[in-house]
Amino acid sequence: MVNIYSPCLNINKEGHLAISGCDTITLAEQYGTPLYVMSEDEVRRVCKSYVDSFGKYYHGNGRPIYASKAFSCKEMYRIVTSEGLDVEVVSGGELYTALQAGVPGENIHFQGNNKTMQELEFAIDSNVSDIVVDNFAELELLGKLAREKGKTVRVSLRIKPGIDAHTHEFIRTGQVDSKFGLDLTSGEALQAVTRAIELDGVKLIGLHCHIGSQIMEKEPFVHAAEVMLELHNRIYKELGVELEQLNLGGGFGIHYLETDDFIPYHEYMEAVSAKIGEKCVEYGINQPKIYIEPGRSIVGEAGITLYTVGNIKEIPNVRSYVSIDGGMFDNPRYALYQSDYTCLIANKAAQPADYVATIAGKCCESGDLIQEHTHIQKPETGDILAVLSTGAYNYSMASNYNRNPRPAFVMVKEGESRIIIKGETYEDLVHNDL
Ligand SMILES: *Cc1c(COP(=O)(O)O)cnc(C)c1O
Repeated sequence: MVNIYSPCLNINKEGHLAISGCDTITLAEQYGTPLYVMSEDEVRRVCKSYVDSFGKYYHGNGRPIYASKAFSCKEMYRIVTSEGLDVEVVSGGELYTALQAGVPGENIHFQGNNKTMQELEFAIDSNVSDIVVDNFAELELLGKLAREKGKTVRVSLRIKPGIDAHTHEFIRTGQVDSKFGLDLTSGEALQAVTRAIELDGVKLIGLHCHIGSQIMEKEPFVHAAEVMLELHNRIYKELGVELEQLNLGGGFGIHYLETDDFIPYHEYMEAVSAKIGEKCVEYGINQPKIYIEPGRSIVGEAGITLYTVGNIKEIPNVRSYVSIDGGMFDNPRYALYQSDYTCLIANKAAQPADYVATIAGKCCESGDLIQEHTHIQKPETGDILAVLSTGAYNYSMASNYNRNPRPAFVMVKEGESRIIIKGETYEDLVHNDL
């Protein structure tokens, strides 16, 4: 038996994998495969735990922001904002989707390392809460655009605190060699702060950092908070400006395998808030409003993907390919950075997982794999294969490679299911073709 670690999953009395009380085999029959499925109960549970932590550790002086690049669609924005979270967007498309879902501009934070002029104008016109500025050129451009519009735009600055968060190289962003943000150690950050303070059209309201993703330990977060608060204090003491907020980013780890071992979220929150409290007393300053930006940890374990098993190629003394009706077009993460996943045969979930499989997609690429040498139940053509923890960076990274339509997305809640994103049709695929 494969260990199913997410609280929204269980094996039902038919021996099938179930999510939030819905039998996955019934879902596959009803909606077809490939199919993305997400538990609204689980998303709301995690949102509540972050909101509760802010009450407990910061007396409500701050809030979590959902980093929506993990999974962006109208219903998702509605769910997280109804739980009291703000949202972070990194493109005009995400901003548009959030606005279409009814999220007020004041609850939206706009971020990105190379926002276009059009995106900056869209963000200004939408009265977003703040624009997180990445570099000097953007700061100047934003000031100019704001002055032309007769507005003052609230900005924060993305800082590289110089922290190596021991994660996969492709998802590590706090160190000096990163395309994101302003370098702290060289003095670039303080120079940008000085410029932002004097520049007409912008009001500097805070600092921002994000040190990486899928981080399992709490020490890098505590260290980042310490480094950022030191900068916050220097700005107050040397430049006489008391910034109102400090955004410490996201990056909290989740389970991809049962053996993944990370600190529970409230323990990060407790350790970081203790450090912030201690430093503010030491510096004799007021505590700024604290924000964090979890993405993966809100949706990751809440989501699974269901596929139908097609052909099975057992190559003696080499490996066994188990092909599915999806692949890198709905989940490119293994092809991109060999990410781990737990896979199981959903209609045999209670049976022993004693078959070693390489799960292959249907795209014309040898690298189109979902997982290699993974233990699943003995597969047969027509079985339903479930891949766990696909809620984050799957739908949002999906493509139409090989002209495969993106699968439908179903939300489940207390035993009920509903489509939140329709599956694409062949007609959709040629919609923009002239
Ligand atoms: C991606 C990103 C996040 C979310 O990271 P997760 O690992 O999904 O929690 C938060 N903030 C910024 C700036 C990001 O780029």
